[in-house]
Amino acid sequence: HAKERGKNNFQFYQAEMNASALERLELESDLRHALEQQQFVLHYQPQYLADGHTLTGVEALLRWQHPSRGLVPPGEFIPALEELGLIVEVGDWVIGEACRQIGNWEREGVVVPKVSVNLSARQFADGQLGQRIAGILAFSKIAPSRLELELTESILMQDVGGAMRMLDALKQLGPSIAIDDFGTGYSSLNYLKQFPIDVLKIDRSFVDGLPEGEQDGQIARAIIAMAHSLSLSVIAEGVETQAQLNFLREHGCDEVQGFYLGRPVPAAKLKASISNCKQQASIGQLEPGPAL
Ligand code: C2E
Ligand code: MG
Ligand code: MG
Ligand code: MG
Repeated sequence: HAKERGKNNFQFYQAEMNASALERLELESDLRHALEQQQFVLHYQPQYLADGHTLTGVEALLRWQHPSRGLVPPGEFIPALEELGLIVEVGDWVIGEACRQIGNWEREGVVVPKVSVNLSARQFADGQLGQRIAGILAFSKIAPSRLELELTESILMQDVGGAMRMLDALKQLGPSIAIDDFGTGYSSLNYLKQFPIDVLKIDRSFVDGLPEGEQDGQIARAIIAMAHSLSLSVIAEGVETQAQLNFLREHGCDEVQGFYLGRPVPAAKLKASISNCKQQASIGQLEPGPAL
């Protein structure tokens, strides 16, 4: 009977709820120990000039090496880190580890001009972020300009005045500032002009449809034009094909990042991943290389 089935469905639903509540608790207690157990790792994805050959930097991307689940992508645990308030501590670890790695590569003869790290809303709202980053930079002894901080539009638009002050303070320390996933949030041109930012990262959803997609093409071109009119540099995320790379280069995009150019890899594998690239320090007057 319908009533009976309804009841069964309800019980089934309850069971599902309990299972996910349990999973959630397990995730929480696992996450609380992950940092001390050294289960977090950074993978690094290369970023190139639009010639596709000249390495400009890498983006550090967090992964969780879970003892039984294996390598867990950030989308599956960063929201929980945020909610638990653990993201501030883990975020400090990310920045410190990324800066330390720049030094490591250098000692190994791998020249990585800069490393970008992602900041979450909670980290940005923490009044101590500036002091923390200053401390990390002093400890790692890398030139502060080799660190880039990535923030989304929504983080900046939550509290424009506060964001402006925080960005000014962060810029004073020396890192560059990039707006991540640009085009997916709402930000006013007027604020963009006032924020001390350096780079717009075109969200990969607009790169997806290139080169045929008329709308994506128009959006990508508009973002590039806007960035340049504000004297900002522009990088496209999620470049997966030669055709996308060609379109972006032909339309004046400064830099590119994506699986076509290199997937995120552990630090030890970066050298092999970028073995075909030119070092920016040595490009000087060199012509751009042939397209990939
Ligand atoms: P994001 O900062 O926009 O990073 C780019 C994401 O796109 C990465 O996913 C990267 O692996 C992926 N990606 C790169 N190239 C391609 C491509 O060609 N095609 C496709 N389909 N994907 C591509 P990932 O590593 O899973 O990171 C997801 C998001 O998690 C990041 O997006 C960032 O918002 C966040 N995240 C990662 N690491 C950290 C961190 O240390 N702290 C914070 N707060 N957030 C982080
Ligand atoms: Mg990012
Ligand atoms: Mg992004
Ligand atoms: Mg993102």
